[in-house]
Amino acid sequence: MKKKVLSPEKAKIISSLLVSMIFLFIVLSMTRLYTNSMIEKAQSDYFNSIKTTMDGFEKVVSLQLNSYRNFLDSYYKDILLTIPDYDINSISKTLVEYSETKHPDFLDFYFLTPDGTAYLSDGTNIHMDPAKHKGLDGVLNYYISGICYPPNRHAYVFCIEKTCYKDGKIAGVLGAAVILDSFQKRTTGLVGNRESFMLLDTEGYFLVHPRADVIGKQYIPEDPRYTETGTIYLAKNPPGTYKSKADDNSVIYLITSKIPESGWTISLKVSMEEIDEIYEIQRKSEIMIFIFAFLTILGLVIVETKILDFFQKKQLIATVYDPLTNLWTRQRFEVEANKMVRNPRAKFMLIEADIRGFKFINQNYGEEAADKLIVYYSKILNICIGDYHGIIGRGFADHFYILLKITSVHKAMNVFRDSLTKITDDVKSYEIPFFPKFGISFLMPGDNPTGNKIQNLIGQASFAKSTIKDNLLTQFSVYNSKLLEKINEEQFIESHMQQALDQKEFFVMYQPKISLTDDRIVGAEALVRWNNPKLGLMTPDKFIPLFEKNGFITKLDYYVYEEVFKFIQNRLAKNLPIVPISVNMSRNHNKPEKFMHDFMEIFTKYSIPPSLIQIEILERSVMDNTTLQDITEKLHKEGFTVAMDDFGSGESSLNMLTKIPVDVLKFDREFLNASTDKEGRIDKKSEKFIHILIDLSKNLEKQTVFEGVETQAQRDFLRSINCDQAQGYFYSKPLAEQDFVQFIKLHS
Ligand code: C2E
Ligand code: CA
Ligand code: CA
Repeated sequence: MKKKVLSPEKAKIISSLLVSMIFLFIVLSMTRLYTNSMIEKAQSDYFNSIKTTMDGFEKVVSLQLNSYRNFLDSYYKDILLTIPDYDINSISKTLVEYSETKHPDFLDFYFLTPDGTAYLSDGTNIHMDPAKHKGLDGVLNYYISGICYPPNRHAYVFCIEKTCYKDGKIAGVLGAAVILDSFQKRTTGLVGNRESFMLLDTEGYFLVHPRADVIGKQYIPEDPRYTETGTIYLAKNPPGTYKSKADDNSVIYLITSKIPESGWTISLKVSMEEIDEIYEIQRKSEIMIFIFAFLTILGLVIVETKILDFFQKKQLIATVYDPLTNLWTRQRFEVEANKMVRNPRAKFMLIEADIRGFKFINQNYGEEAADKLIVYYSKILNICIGDYHGIIGRGFADHFYILLKITSVHKAMNVFRDSLTKITDDVKSYEIPFFPKFGISFLMPGDNPTGNKIQNLIGQASFAKSTIKDNLLTQFSVYNSKLLEKINEEQFIESHMQQALDQKEFFVMYQPKISLTDDRIVGAEALVRWNNPKLGLMTPDKFIPLFEKNGFITKLDYYVYEEVFKFIQNRLAKNLPIVPISVNMSRNHNKPEKFMHDFMEIFTKYSIPPSLIQIEILERSVMDNTTLQDITEKLHKEGFTVAMDDFGSGESSLNMLTKIPVDVLKFDREFLNASTDKEGRIDKKSEKFIHILIDLSKNLEKQTVFEGVETQAQRDFLRSINCDQAQGYFYSKPLAEQDFVQFIKLHS
């Protein structure tokens, strides 16, 4: 399973999103805790205020009852205490007398004897049930009755009674019937007409209620779940809070408390709606805050990503990580590397790595496969540096940069070679064949490069890598100052070659070819030289490989041809001796038509027989066999002879021999070079092999020429096997024109 790797930018955004969420969660939880405690406080405040209101009501009721009692007390003093022996007739008479001064809330007042006869203040007497008038029990000094509706009086009343004693025995009760309506007005009036106040007598009858029609009645709920809110229940049970349901089905609470002495119950209806409303607002605002905060954070993160993207697209900020490999970008690598190399006493190794022919892979396998390869390569490199405390970054395409702190160049190179073996092994298992390539440079304590140290080091490593040619065996190159000299020279050459051509800095030397039968000159090869005022005299190995790379060689070839033609024409015009001259055709000419056209254009400017010109075609040229054949035939048609140069250096020499109709085989210098020892002796095996080749060429009717003949032994051997011609230092080095004409004179 492949792990999907997040880019560091994305990871940062996601983690900041997560952190913000966690933070948001914590903040919300804390506000929640805080608001909960606020709600609790609000609730208890609410209940407290209710309690206070109830206390107030209770006090008002108590005071009112007290005032009734005080009235009774004063009657008691004024009436009963003045009448000796509780003479009932006197009592009755006095009651009537006092009726004018009675308390306005009193409907009547009366004296009730233990036998149940009540003498009323209006002068009548009625029967009252002694069992219902607890004042006669003598348990309480004052008794307050429940609600009752006396016949023919059209008003609810309750009775307040004071027990009267005579000689320690109960003589009767002095009582008053209080008009409930009046009592109600006084009490509720004082506490403010609270809609929700109820007052119950001990039996659960309403004494006070916002609705007049329920006064004097009990409330018994139909729903058995709310029995506890029935007035009988409330009246009989101790004070507390009881849950109930209002007519509109909303939840309400009944809070009760008791009025001392009377045993009455105050009940206050509290709707939970008020509290619920606080809750609701709270909850809503919490959700709103959450949504708002969430959206804000989300919005900010989106904006952040967009800004980041924008900056990256506009390249306004240095990208830190390469999105493909998640390694540092080159810019970032340089910043970090510069920090690392600040220590002036430390040694460092910089490696630039890439892949041979990556462009080719990109074109042939597609971008996706190429990207995959880069990721794979980056991992291999990253693993390798993991053990050595280095840093790595990726530049353009397949370019990677590595900086390592080292203890010595020697050790570092050993470690590098070990890693290289490992990398080469790893790479073999990859689906696309590819070859890593490395350039290496070092920064030593003494080095004091001007400018940016790291850019300098990278430049050097990069240059070292660029000197690795197509040879698959070379995987790395280490920068040294000679390498730099070479690149400088190459740069100089490239920028001066056209000018050199125009100013005739190139000139031709001639190396004689000698017949092995009679040691006389039979031809010569034109070899180019460059005499530059700054670089001095240069042989072709200095500039031809470069010209082959940049294509300038074809121009130079035509220049040489023209110089040769001019020389021959000059000789012919003056009737001076001359030999056939062979000219080299570079491997860059790969279009026979074009070459023939350009060649003939120059050749026809001069009137020289084509038999004096031979063209040397390299065996290992980029041309395929059919092209080679094609051009040979075309040259033959025009009357030129063709030699195969460096014969034997290629792989399919023998195969080609029969196919390509060349006239001359010019055996490669290496034949003699490799088979001759220090003393100049040729080993027997090589002798045999060369002999066979010469015989074979003879059979195919090819002329044979040996290059690089340096010793007499070589010459004698070649002569002994009937090789036709020899070219080499043994006879002559390449000669300048005036020396060459001398040579012809002497050796014709
Ligand atoms: P080449 O065509 O094989 O030329 C022969 C090279 O062998 C010459 O090197 C010559 O100086 C060298 N040589 C001759 N005899 C001996 C010997 O006894 N011992 C040793 N060690 N070397 C010997 P030169 O002139 O440096 O040319 C090098 C190569 O440059 C040539 O190899 C040829 O491939 C190329 N070249 C030279 N002039 C031209 C030119 O005008 N056009 C093109 N296209 N290539 C040229
Ligand atoms: Ca040649
Ligand atoms: Ca040659």
